[in-house]
Amino acid sequence: MVILFLGAPGAGKGTQASVISKKLGIPHISTGDIFREAVSQGTELGKKAKEYMDRGELVPDEIVIGIVKERLSKDDCRNGFVLDGFPRTVAQAEALDSALSELGKNLDFVFNVEVSEDEIVRRLTGRRTCKQCNAVYHIEFNPSKVEAVCDVCGGELYQRDDDREETVRNRIKVYNEKTAPLIDYYQRKGILIDINGELPVEKVTEEILKYLSK
Ligand SMILES: [Zn+2]
Repeated sequence: MVILFLGAPGAGKGTQASVISKKLGIPHISTGDIFREAVSQGTELGKKAKEYMDRGELVPDEIVIGIVKERLSKDDCRNGFVLDGFPRTVAQAEALDSALSELGKNLDFVFNVEVSEDEIVRRLTGRRTCKQCNAVYHIEFNPSKVEAVCDVCGGELYQRDDDREETVRNRIKVYNEKTAPLIDYYQRKGILIDINGELPVEKVTEEILKYLSK
């Protein structure tokens, strides 16, 4: 089973990808993680990727795809995997399709976790991070016992620049622009499923599992 999750930052797709991968017993392939892995293991492609990242440049598609391909050819992926964070563009989606067919696989489901812009803003701007230990809180959903003080280490909590409203709205805009064609692409293939990401986490998982058991 090959499953892909799409969703704006804050939509909860990473959480769902992780839960579903555990339920199905197949690996959760998060691009962020496999990138860090490739870089820290110093693989050929990891080294190349690091050069771009060190210069603050975008890593070119062929390197990104190469790293994903390497990961997908590993033994633990033979029964399937859950992809999260890749592809981000139609060009990458096409490259993924050919990589999968080389592996004798194809994409079974693409879950598009939908959350309204206002809800994403509410989720992300409420986040507070500890300056000392990086623990993450939420003023509404997971508040610290004492306001602005970390439960774990007593450090000061702050709002990361990434979590400011203006930045969040801009991230959503960029995401929508980039991803809209991708949604179209998978819709045309008939494998896209819209999931209401505003439901509680367990309900969202239930919805997804319903489709998977069909
Ligand atoms: Zn702390």
